[in-house]
Amino acid sequence: MKPASAGLKHAPKSSQVWEVDQIQPELQSDSKRPPAHLQREISTIVADATRDNLLTRLCPRDKALLLSHAGDHSSISCTPHRADYIVPNDQWLIGMKRRLLLDLITFSSESVRCQCSQCGKPIDAKGDHLLSCPRVTSGARTSVWHDGLVRSISHVLRSFGVTHRVEPTGIVPLRDLRPDLLVSPDPESEAQGDTLLDVRTCISTNKDQLHHASVNSGHAASQGEAYKNAKWHQPASDQGCVFVPIRVEEGGRLGEACRGFLASICSRLQASGEPSFNRRAFMAFALNHIQLTNFKAVARVIQDNTYHLIPEATRAQTPSVSPALFSGVRAPTTDAHAAPRSPFDSKPHPPPSFLRGH
Ligand SMILES: [Zn+2]
Repeated sequence: MKPASAGLKHAPKSSQVWEVDQIQPELQSDSKRPPAHLQREISTIVADATRDNLLTRLCPRDKALLLSHAGDHSSISCTPHRADYIVPNDQWLIGMKRRLLLDLITFSSESVRCQCSQCGKPIDAKGDHLLSCPRVTSGARTSVWHDGLVRSISHVLRSFGVTHRVEPTGIVPLRDLRPDLLVSPDPESEAQGDTLLDVRTCISTNKDQLHHASVNSGHAASQGEAYKNAKWHQPASDQGCVFVPIRVEEGGRLGEACRGFLASICSRLQASGEPSFNRRAFMAFALNHIQLTNFKAVARVIQDNTYHLIPEATRAQTPSVSPALFSGVRAPTTDAHAAPRSPFDSKPHPPPSFLRGH
């Protein structure tokens, strides 16, 4: 502890030892500097005003995607050390361009437009349709994105010894319902029922979400939660189980129920009395793993659907999506729903050149 007598009008009494930044109240009036709290207040006001000013210039689609990405505090800030955590450069570029609200595709002119080969709707330059085309929602969006999230949550639970099963059958025998995960109750607690999890991917830029998603953070995730709660709550309750909808938006924002579930697992582990357990470390690990999976999977879906949704004839008319730029890239399969591999257990194919930057 360092005495702060230097620079003070009055030397401290022998029983007083002050920190440099703990100037006595009566001495503060001597300072020429403005109070720190006022500086912070002004900085906050300026930052808020700047943000509001920027938001007024954005279209609803960009606002919705910005809010969706604002819910991901973990994937970008991580420093991956493990090989399976590394984000390939091509996926990183796609993810960063979407985060920065930039175009993924450059059309040669306004008159040249891609039409989706599956549904006929326009393919936008920012890749939204490549992520959300209704004709391929059971393709990469399921096998890479949805299933990748299920595996990532299972990985988090397994890493901390939480007993669970993936896609258990026979839980709700009278209905055609199968949860993505079943988490057994804590053997040390009095709770008896299992927890059933249903994972769903949500897209905030979908037209039916856009109006509210552009002004309410997490709107797409909360809508997804309400939909699944209505479907699952009663059947799960009839079986003595608790249902939790796990919703993850394309930008990484998690639904409130998902965050609540992670917090409950955290409390359960903390109550187990393991001396080395650290609550903040658990949440950081869990969020990082889930959101990094999400970040990679969204890029993979866009990569995969590039082949299935952009017609070859359109590529030929558009220099930036010329077939020549696909050289060395995996040829599209005849089965549009062919299952790509997990974003965490495979080496992805390189993207077409028009997704590599301009
Ligand atoms: Zn389509």
